[in-house]
Formats: sequence, C-alpha cells, structure tokens
Amino acid sequence: MTSSIEIDAAVSRALGGERIAPEEALLLLERADLVTLGAMADLTRRRLHPDRVVTYIIDRNVNYTNVCNAFCTFCAFYRPPHHGEGYVLPYETIERKVQETYELGGNQILLQGGHNPDLKIDYYEDLFRRLKTRFPDLWLHALSPPEVVHIHKVSRITIPETLRRLRAAGLASLPGGGAEILVDSVRKRMMKNKASSDEWLGVMEEAHRQGLRSTATMMFGHIETRADRIEHLARLRDLQDRTGGFTAFIGWTFQPGNTEMGGVEATTAEYLRTMAVARVFLDNFENIQASWVTQGPKVGAASLAFGVNDMGSTMIEENVVSSAGTTHHMNEPEIVAAVRDAGFVPLRRNMLYERLGEPLRA
Ligand code: SF4
Repeated sequence: MTSSIEIDAAVSRALGGERIAPEEALLLLERADLVTLGAMADLTRRRLHPDRVVTYIIDRNVNYTNVCNAFCTFCAFYRPPHHGEGYVLPYETIERKVQETYELGGNQILLQGGHNPDLKIDYYEDLFRRLKTRFPDLWLHALSPPEVVHIHKVSRITIPETLRRLRAAGLASLPGGGAEILVDSVRKRMMKNKASSDEWLGVMEEAHRQGLRSTATMMFGHIETRADRIEHLARLRDLQDRTGGFTAFIGWTFQPGNTEMGGVEATTAEYLRTMAVARVFLDNFENIQASWVTQGPKVGAASLAFGVNDMGSTMIEENVVSSAGTTHHMNEPEIVAAVRDAGFVPLRRNMLYERLGEPLRA
C-alpha cells in the first residue's frame, strides 16, 4: 500500500525540479490532491516561463476530407468511403479559407483530414504547391502521423520518402493528432485501421530527423487507465530526449457525443490533474497548450494555473470536436481577455513558439 511518505517524496522531487519517474507520476495522478498538483505544475511553468507570458496563435483548422477508413469508435467526424455525406473540399474552398485567415492576421492553417483511400501523395503535393504559389509565406501545419502512414500505404512509398516529398511541396510542420493513447492494447479496442503506437512515434522521429518540428497530443478520459496515460507521456518524453523536435504538448478529453464509443466525458478535475502531471513529467517539453475547445473558455483559463502556458489557436474554424456536439468558441479578443483576467500577459506566436507581438485585436 502506498504511504503518504512516498507521495510527499514524489512531490518534493518535483518541486525541486528533478525528473520524476513514471511510477511517481502515476502516484501523483492517482493520489496527490488537486491543489498540490496545481502548485507543482505552476512552479514548473514559472521556471520555464518566468515572465508570465501566455501565447496563442491565429490560425484555423481546415479538414480537407471527412472520408475515412480508419473507423475510430471515438470519432463523430468521419464518413466511410462512398457515404453520401463524404466530401473532399475543392481547392477553391481551401484557398478561400486561407485567404480569410490572412485577413484575420494569421498565416498558418492546420490541415488534417480522414484516411481517404482515393487521395494519394500526388493530391497532397499538388494542393501544397498550389497553396504555396498563391500564399508564399503560408505555414502548412499539416497531416498527423496516422495520415502520413495512410499516404505512405496508399502511395506505396516509404515513410521517409513520403515526408521528403511532402516537405518539398511545402509541408512546414506536423500536428500531433492521432496519438490518442500510445498504448496498443488500448488503440486496438478503439480503432480498426489506424497507425500503431510505434508507427505514430516512428513518423514523428523521422519528421524530426528531417528537420520538421511537431506537436504532441493525448486524448484521454475514455477506455484507458491512468497508467496508460503515464505510459503515453513516458513514450513522448523518451522520444523528445532523442530528438527535441516537439514544440508543445496538448491534452484533451474524449468528447463522447455522436460517437460509437459513447460514455461520459471526464470531469474538469480529471482534466486539470492530468495536465498538471503532464507539465511536471514532461520536463523536456517547453510548452503545454490548453484545450479550451473541448473544456470551454473558463476551464481553459483555469488551466493556466495548472501548468499551461499557451492558449492554442483562435480556431477560426473547427469541425472535429463540434461533430461530437461540443461547440466552444473564442475569438482573439476573448482569448486576450481570458489570459489577462487570469493574471498573465497575452502574446501572439507562430508554430515554433517564436513570439510575434501584442494582440492584433483586444
Ligand atoms: S479520428 Fe481521424 S482517423 Fe479516426 S475515424 Fe476520425 S477522421 Fe478517421
């Protein structure tokens, strides 16, 4: 049986800035009280970001297709091939969305979509080249590792070659989507045809090796255990030790609405506990991003006291979480106000977390 002395020892090591072991992280997640977790995470954030700056980025999510043959039971967004509601966005529609993003002061889009069996590498090369011709400084934060694995398979080329060709066409960085929980026994129970843990990590390692930076994510609060969450975080931390290629970690809770998996959403306390432990455990990650799009603006702002130092995107457009019936919106002035109300200084950033300056609209 775990004693409070063991919990105190783990807390004191974390407060002292020492790296904590996975077993200690699990102990904290399961047994430490919420206030203690918040204090530990806040101290870690202050060490890394002593100037109290909280960043955010002006960009939008563009989902180029909802056709997907991965069949994830937690997903309310996709439509199977040949379904009447399946779509592939016309180039002109994507171009218009990019233009609108520029008009709001952003030059990045997060481009993700389903595993559409009809789209091979030449589709992406053509799309990226056309966009970069029209918008030369557009930052294409595009294609999560499972999409890269899917493109590699349907195009019958290797992963390194897939990434090289996408980069040559304009890919600038990879979003960390599709990680869910990087434990295969969990993955097998909630998706039929999607990248394994090793494949997800392998794509990220190769991308980092080729000079592409990326984010890392975790979707929790479904069928996984807390130990699975810690295993996931440990695999991210190990890879970051090897490559240093992750710019940030983003965690969010499973949104059960309209999904085959169904169930009940994790509590706010569970979200904050998990984010606080992630902040402390991921000592080689500089940035931790809030997920106000799933948690709502108030919890998003509260997470700034639990180790989070970034409010993510202004999310001019979002389709995946909203398919599950979760619709939270924050425009730039609302993000700025939330950050200031919480006692922090809001600054715009780019994907590399370089600070771009004061808010454009406050
Ligand atoms: S989560 Fe992504 S890969 Fe899974 S079904 Fe939805 S669109 Fe497809």
